[in-house]
Amino acid sequence: MSKIILTGDRPTGRLHVGHYVGSLRRRVELQNSGEFDKIFIMIADAQALTDNADNPEKIRQNVIEVALDYLSVGLDPAKSNLFIQSQISELTELTFFYMNLVTVSRLQRNPTVKAEIQMRNFEASIPVGFFTYPISQASDITAFKATTVPVGEDQLPMLEQTKEIVRKFNSVYGETLVEPEILLPDNEACLRLPGTDGKAKMSKSLGNCIYLSDTEEDVRAKVMSMYTDPDHIKITDPGKLEGNTVFTYLDAFSKPEHFAEFLLEYNNLDELKEHYQRGGLGDVKVKKFLNNVLQDELAPIRARRAEFEKDIPEVYNILKKGSDVAREAAAETLAEVKRAMKINYFEDRALIEEQSKKYSR
Ligand code: ATP
Ligand code: MG
Repeated sequence: MSKIILTGDRPTGRLHVGHYVGSLRRRVELQNSGEFDKIFIMIADAQALTDNADNPEKIRQNVIEVALDYLSVGLDPAKSNLFIQSQISELTELTFFYMNLVTVSRLQRNPTVKAEIQMRNFEASIPVGFFTYPISQASDITAFKATTVPVGEDQLPMLEQTKEIVRKFNSVYGETLVEPEILLPDNEACLRLPGTDGKAKMSKSLGNCIYLSDTEEDVRAKVMSMYTDPDHIKITDPGKLEGNTVFTYLDAFSKPEHFAEFLLEYNNLDELKEHYQRGGLGDVKVKKFLNNVLQDELAPIRARRAEFEKDIPEVYNILKKGSDVAREAAAETLAEVKRAMKINYFEDRALIEEQSKKYSR
């Protein structure tokens, strides 16, 4: 069986370091591993509109931002199809058919959707499109027969929903769709990177992000004002690591070689943590180290972005080409789905003959 990747992001803002450690970094590794037959990376504008219906301009503006972020982290259009969700109408058709296989109460149980409804104050007025986006996401994944979906932890319930739809579809209509596997980051800190404010998740919607496209100075300012241990007041006080965002980021980003380069007094992160917990290590010193680590990772990304920004029409062209390839793949699956559901009337000779016979009696 072919190995196929599908993943994507909502164009609700520029991408941030949470996206990077949660999904982008891994995508680039997988892309360059050469182990995959096809890679589809989707800018989920239609999904973004489900909770931004009154602000289409925001989505329109951010499509190009996300595309630039993709290219800047090293996604390569020669190896990965970068495409725009709304341009593939086959995806909405699949969604319409899958809707019949999912109950309202099943959607209501989705913990990520529940949390997002709360975050958006949607309790009394959830748009139907938003409520059903897990079904639309199942269409995105299955349309490309994806086997592997590299995403952050918040996507686990979506993958579960997708698998259920695949099983249900295959059992009702016959073996057609492929069950995908989620690929979560292997580093605990990357599963759900907290915001700079210490809140549970760095999220475009919460305004607690370090963006991949932030300037060197922006990143430094954000790091220096980051949430740490509120009880670590004097340098000599023992410090806590739990809930200490600066250390979570170091878990996510620092490599042993960063110590040799920026903080020679320690051999590794464990030694630094140990000193912090013992007392005698100030937040500013740790933050300065984190800043160096982040700048080291972000500088090449920033430089690549600057190159792609010089030719925006070419970036749209990349998306158009990717969308053409994606449409072809999705159309093939949709045809199989319609065949399995027996709604392929005009190519179904048996049906036409059967009906003719019935009426020629
Ligand atoms: P929105 O607030 O509009 O939903 P978002 O910041 O949650 O935006 P998405 O586009 O929903 O971003 O998510 C894109 C991908 O990035 C998903 O795979 C998601 O799991 C991952 N991701 C998002 N935020 C984080 C985070 N803080 N840590 C790790 N992974 C993340
Ligand atoms: Mg999200």
